Amino acid sequence: MIDMTIRRRIIIAALIQAVVICLICGFGYLSVKAVLTKLQAIEVIDDLNISLLEMRKAEKNYFLYKDLGSLNELIQTGEERYSALQSSRPYLVSGFRGLGTEQYDSLLDNLKRYLELVRQGVMTNQISPHAEEEIRKLGHELTALSGSLLTRERKNVNDIVSFILIMLIVSLAVIFVVQVLLWRYFFRFIIQEINLMEDMIRMVSAGRFQEVTTQTIAPHNEIQIAVRAIGDMARELEKREQELLQSGKLASLGVLISGVAHELGNPLNNISLIAQTYLSLYDLLGDDDKKNYMGDIYTQSERIKKIVENLLDFSRQKKQELQDFQIGDIVQRSLGLVANQLKISKVKHYVTIADPVPLVSVDAPQIQQVLVNLFVNAIQAMDHGGELFIDASYDQDRDMVVLTVRDTGTGIKKEILPNIFDPFFTTKSTKGTGLGLSVSYGIIQQHHGEITVESEEGQGTTFTIKLPAKGKDKGE
Ligand code: ADP
Repeated sequence: MIDMTIRRRIIIAALIQAVVICLICGFGYLSVKAVLTKLQAIEVIDDLNISLLEMRKAEKNYFLYKDLGSLNELIQTGEERYSALQSSRPYLVSGFRGLGTEQYDSLLDNLKRYLELVRQGVMTNQISPHAEEEIRKLGHELTALSGSLLTRERKNVNDIVSFILIMLIVSLAVIFVVQVLLWRYFFRFIIQEINLMEDMIRMVSAGRFQEVTTQTIAPHNEIQIAVRAIGDMARELEKREQELLQSGKLASLGVLISGVAHELGNPLNNISLIAQTYLSLYDLLGDDDKKNYMGDIYTQSERIKKIVENLLDFSRQKKQELQDFQIGDIVQRSLGLVANQLKISKVKHYVTIADPVPLVSVDAPQIQQVLVNLFVNAIQAMDHGGELFIDASYDQDRDMVVLTVRDTGTGIKKEILPNIFDPFFTTKSTKGTGLGLSVSYGIIQQHHGEITVESEEGQGTTFTIKLPAKGKDKGE
């Protein structure tokens, strides 16, 4: 059933429903027709019954008072009933529990014989005792027969109506069962497949291309074909992403090399100059001067060390160790690392964690490194004190945990905003390495997340980090 196209499923389901409805309507039509036939039969027999009572009354009048006039009325009424019986043959003989030919013929024959005997009596102006006996007997039999027929047909109508009621309930049950079966075997799969498609689209929109696996799905119906297409799209996107990443890497490699040359060149140059001066003036220098020169060399080599450390962080593909964490805990730990700087710089901080925020599956030290980076940048942008707001919430539509870090610092100029994530981009001259944000960007990318920035010069800066939620069931 699962390998049927949706179009075919809908056509088959509609056909099954049409057949069931036709059967029920056909049954209803036949039942109503049977009731109508029986009602017509009852009308004819009822008329016959009433007429026979009148005829027997006329018959008695004749035998008691020799009233020939009443016999003429009897013959007229009898003939009317006789022809009515003849024309109503179809209602009486056939149909549900009909009279049957034999009983019908005997009714007609008896009536005919009865009328003949009476007619002879009228014509000869006398009725023999033998004929009188036969007339009485036939009259009695006819009355009894029509009475019992009337009772029987009424019972037939009752039975048919009861049967219709039962069949109505059965029809409802049949319709219900057919609907349940149609749902089970025809449409349940469609909902399952739509859900699958929804999940896949979510994965694609969250950039989790590797998780979109559709190879096992055979494309039998329209939705399955769409699901496969989403899978192909995801693979294509992943490929393109890799290509982009690759070309981006090559581009940034150039920046990196010139950056490294420049960054290391300055302190190395300084060291070389200091060393030269130190050597040429060695004999003239006092102990304090020598210490100062050595101190300068130490400062410059420390700077080189810091640059090299950051470079290693930037280039090293550390293996991620993912664990489930409450984002609030990582925020608190990171704040702990910059507590001193916050205090010295007179920066007040406010943390708001919405309730509930799902867990995130992250490499905690890496995320901590990102947050410390953002906090330090924010503190440096608030030279004369300020406020730092850290908010965590849950974006239900994208199933992501959202963390914002907002400061009331200097802000970032519009023209340099697109460059701040570039390696070695810094506005802090020798105090900055320009690697903090590019390292942070890489870490968040590896977590399948996003990091974005908004800034207003003179107002402050907001960094927004989005990380995939661990899963509603476990996280809340
Ligand atoms: P670094 O801090 O070593 O300069 P980063 O990569 O961390 O390197 O930052 C790059 C640049 O982005 C900074 O030099 C600074 O100009 C700008 N920047 C980052 N965060 C902020 C902030 N909160 N406020 C203002 N400028 C910022």
